[in-house]
Amino acid sequence: MRSADVVVIGGGVNGASTAFNLASLGVKRIILVERRHLAAGASGKSGSLVRMHYTNDAEARLAFESLKVFRDFSRIVGGDCGFQPIGFVQVVAPGYEKALHANVAMQQRIGIETQPISKDDLRRLVPAMRVDDIGAACWEPGSGFADPNATTFGFAEAARRLGATIETECEALRIVIEGGRVAGVETSRGRIAAPVMVAVPGAWAGTLLGPLGLDFGLEPYRIQISVFRWPAGFQGGHPVVIDAFHKAWMRPEGAISTLIGVELGAAHTDPEKFHEGVDEDYVALCREKLATRFPVFQHSTMRGGWAGMIMMSPDGRPVIDQIPSVPGLWVMLGDSGTSFKTSPAIGRCLAEWIVKGKPETADLSRFRSTRFAEGKPWVDEHNYGRERLTISR
Ligand SMILES: Cc1cc2nc3c(=O)[nH]c(=O)nc-3n(C[C@H](O)[C@H](O)[C@H](O)COP(=O)(O)OP(=O)(O)OC[C@H]3O[C@@H](n4cnc5c(N)ncnc54)[C@H](O)[C@@H]3O)c2cc1C
Repeated sequence: MRSADVVVIGGGVNGASTAFNLASLGVKRIILVERRHLAAGASGKSGSLVRMHYTNDAEARLAFESLKVFRDFSRIVGGDCGFQPIGFVQVVAPGYEKALHANVAMQQRIGIETQPISKDDLRRLVPAMRVDDIGAACWEPGSGFADPNATTFGFAEAARRLGATIETECEALRIVIEGGRVAGVETSRGRIAAPVMVAVPGAWAGTLLGPLGLDFGLEPYRIQISVFRWPAGFQGGHPVVIDAFHKAWMRPEGAISTLIGVELGAAHTDPEKFHEGVDEDYVALCREKLATRFPVFQHSTMRGGWAGMIMMSPDGRPVIDQIPSVPGLWVMLGDSGTSFKTSPAIGRCLAEWIVKGKPETADLSRFRSTRFAEGKPWVDEHNYGRERLTISR
């Protein structure tokens, strides 16, 4: 039987980041098992927005700590994560002006480079954007987007260089509990004995958690995006935009296209067999929302799209915890479609927790797994309406 100090289950960006950070902190025998290939889940499909604007300080801080890594990826991790700091605009509907200003002030206290921006300044900054209908907006000049596959591969390759084993096409079938704590994992390639397990299985968490009696009310969702060619005459490009008014987010894709996602997606989808392409009516919805914010896109050509699986938690926030009832088990679950940009800090925090006894980079207490049983699901004071259903990639 093989053995390891830590087994990481899942080769998405959060699993790969965790393996890298564990190796950086000196853990020698790490095995990451991935049932398919690296970035086979949500990570490979991600819109990969890297923005700091959250309606709570816990996630904003994770995003802020992660931005430092995206900016300096080649030195800290190695390789190129494709980070493009083209700037980010958050717009909200009328009625949410106070909420946006409160959130910007909270982010500034963290140290995030962000500021409210007037409609006139926004029009000057992004001339193609319709701004007359919005309530308020803010601008983050240093945010942008990255390449989610390159980021995942970069973390995994760095972990491998530091001695970790990355095993693809290896499925974790059952977490083994002995004497009331983690003892190892049964995989499709045999058992691995290990006292510490980090489960980061994305939308496929159900089969691992069920047998341990763990139920956090997680639901797999199918999320789509589509891509539109820039119309003739549209040259200036645009920054990354989250339009909380129309529940859409968009960013440039390549040199001549825009990638857009709208709304939350469809729940209860079977992550084992879902349609990876984009639905026809969804393309029409995206075109409508895109043209609402950028009228020039009314006659743009659709150039593709895809769908991926995320795992929503009941309050739309991830669960990042050491499971109290299962000593030796750490989890990052219920990514809720917003955990690419925070993955560098999430992996760092999990590694600190395992190696040093507590997370140091950020406080993870609000992400605790017990909040649902305590009847204290997460609600942000200054949200932008329909909190959990508000698109927030
Ligand atoms: C269309 C779309 C757009 C998005 N846009 C953004 C965005 O703009 N910004 C942002 O921050 N986030 C975004 N997200 C969300 C983000 O991509 C995810 O939150 C993040 O990638 C989750 O990473 P993960 O490593 O936790 O999970 P995943 O990437 O899903 O990885 C889980 C991995 O575990 C593997 N696995 C599962 N079970 C087992 C098992 N039993 N044994 C072995 N391996 C197993 C899976 O095969 C998978 O590779 C988007 C997601 C989608 C789908």
